[in-house]
Amino acid sequence: MSGHLSGSVQYLKGVGPARANGLSKLGILTIRDLLYYFPKRYEDRRLYKKILELKDGEIATVSGKIELTDVVAMHPKLAVFKAAVSDGSGIIFAMFYKRPSYRYDVFNKLKTVLVPGTRIILHGRVEIFHNTRQIRTEEYEVLAGDETDRLHTGRIVPVYPGTEGVPCRFLRSIIKQAVERFSKYVPEIVPPGYEKTVDETPVKYAMEQIHFPDEFDKIERARKRLAFDEFLILELAMLLSKRQHSEKRKNRDIRILKNLLTPFRQKMGFDFTRPQKKVINEIFMDMTSAKPMNRLLMGDVGSGKTVVALSAVLLAIENGYQAAMMAPTEILAEQHYYTTKNFLNDLSVRTALLTGSTPRSKKRDIVRSLAEGSIDLLIGTHAIIESRVRFGKLALVVIDEQHKFGVMQRHKLHRKGALTEEASPPDVLIMTATPIPRTLALTIYGDLDVSVIDELPSGRLPVTTMHADEPFAWDFIAKKIREGRQAYIVFPLVEESDKIELKAAVQEARRLSMDVFPEFRVGLLHGQMKGADKEKAMLDFRDRKYDILIATTVIEIGIDIPDATVIVIEHADRFGLSTLHQLRGRVGRKSGVESYCLLLGEPKTDEAKKRMNTLISTTDGFVIAEKDLEIRGPGEFFGVQQHGALPLKIGDIFRDIGIINRTRKLAGEILSNDPALAGRKHLNMKEELIRNYAGRFFLPQTG
Ligand code: ADP
Ligand code: MG
Repeated sequence: MSGHLSGSVQYLKGVGPARANGLSKLGILTIRDLLYYFPKRYEDRRLYKKILELKDGEIATVSGKIELTDVVAMHPKLAVFKAAVSDGSGIIFAMFYKRPSYRYDVFNKLKTVLVPGTRIILHGRVEIFHNTRQIRTEEYEVLAGDETDRLHTGRIVPVYPGTEGVPCRFLRSIIKQAVERFSKYVPEIVPPGYEKTVDETPVKYAMEQIHFPDEFDKIERARKRLAFDEFLILELAMLLSKRQHSEKRKNRDIRILKNLLTPFRQKMGFDFTRPQKKVINEIFMDMTSAKPMNRLLMGDVGSGKTVVALSAVLLAIENGYQAAMMAPTEILAEQHYYTTKNFLNDLSVRTALLTGSTPRSKKRDIVRSLAEGSIDLLIGTHAIIESRVRFGKLALVVIDEQHKFGVMQRHKLHRKGALTEEASPPDVLIMTATPIPRTLALTIYGDLDVSVIDELPSGRLPVTTMHADEPFAWDFIAKKIREGRQAYIVFPLVEESDKIELKAAVQEARRLSMDVFPEFRVGLLHGQMKGADKEKAMLDFRDRKYDILIATTVIEIGIDIPDATVIVIEHADRFGLSTLHQLRGRVGRKSGVESYCLLLGEPKTDEAKKRMNTLISTTDGFVIAEKDLEIRGPGEFFGVQQHGALPLKIGDIFRDIGIINRTRKLAGEILSNDPALAGRKHLNMKEELIRNYAGRFFLPQTG
């Protein structure tokens, strides 16, 4: 039945090959894609204003009769089609501006449609010059025949994001057709017997109302109804994935030998905190059991995740296996590599670094050594998954900063043969410094077990954070350096690849080092530098060859230089709370030593003000996460949704917490009654599940 929905959009009236091509750029190929292309907002165009009462500058909808029309050349490059429209209270000129390249076509068409005497509805911005009223027509609709059947005006009108060659008005017309002819084929997926759990609005009605609502209050109800189905499928996928994973068995013998663990602990020079111990225990239980580990480790910046991960790595290695550690960026991978070497040097653990910029020949060596087993720990970026690296005896994969990878990529790892010829799946430990509210964690990481480090090592002082101006900041840095400390100055870049922004930052860095800090040694670190240069900059800073390190956002995560106790963040007003929190996490890493974070930049919006005030008032990552959610509103939180972490079209992981909890419960019940979803009544659900998630998570390609 739902086969109708898989038909091409070309079945619709008005969609030829050219339009179909334009639509494909929006990801719309089928009728289903079109039905699930939801409005980004709605406009209320139900109320017509009296022409006489219109005010200059307002956006309004008016209705009237065309009195006469005319084409006027404004200048050689611009012409306008004008229609005088009256509604009994006054006259307004409807303006249709066009570039001349195609004006004659368009104008001829307008002329045949907008003939004097016809009734028309206009929507647009009103302009009044010397008592002459005109409206820049954004939308118009000729009234003919059935007056109740308005599409572009005279109703609550959906606004769709269009693109070149696919204007909103066109989308609206074909979506209208699709809704009328095909919404009846959208399947009800909630199986009989469970209807009570869901708002009983039929899905067809929800589909109609989300696109062409009768009333504003019907929109949210329709959205929730559709979100319910979307989350039900997602939760089923999560549960199935978790179940499949837990049914796997490892063929490995791992015991806690302490050959490496004990010397490592001695070398560390500090004791694990209580939560670190608890988490290591959880990880070791997983690693020594027959089920593969699939665990998320959450802990705020500076909470000491790295040493926990290293303990897991050493457990694998002391049992004769290999481990891999992946980070989202090269610089982070490098940073991990040096930190690790620092800890592991005397333990005769053989480590290697593999990133996108590792030279070919070096890479060949690494690949060979891995297969032979003469590398114990490989640290690197995504290059580890992407290149044809094969481990001889891989037991553990640690992934740092999961949110940068996205849920879907994580599952690549588990695909058979992704990293190892062995049938035994590796244990997987994912670390994230993004503190997220628990319900959210369950949604995004629903198929993982979760461990939390909720306490910083003792003696850490909260970083003193304040808003400052440049003269103060530079004086402050100078003072602290004279007291024997080091400082970061960060120029955050929106995109590390933005050449213009980077150039500005580099120039500014030069100016600072020459004009402002001539008596100090200043280093520079940014994402476009060569791997070896980045390494040198970092090591030199660590070895105190620099007093100040000027850096771009590359240092956001991972850099660990405890003697740096001041961080100055330029343009702090432009950055999200999570980025600021991560940046601030570069200081305050030494027990008993006071650290400072100075925020530069004048907040121009209320939101920017709130962000900076939040950062100043707390150093608790969870509080910051909650505030971030509050300030940004749903949907933009830490970029979870933009990163395509979850393939959601209408559900909102923040607004729909209630729905998520209900669908998770329902998914659990359904699966416990019918583990293979083999029953007829589960057919629709299963089809949707396969359509959306086959090949993702651990779901097999076919049912
Ligand atoms: P995260 O990765 O969670 O941000 P790190 O693992 O980089 O944190 O640890 C931050 C700093 O704290 C490092 O310098 C690390 O050596 C140190 N550290 C980790 N655990 C402890 C501990 N239990 N006591 C004291 N210092 C610790
Ligand atoms: Mg870290």
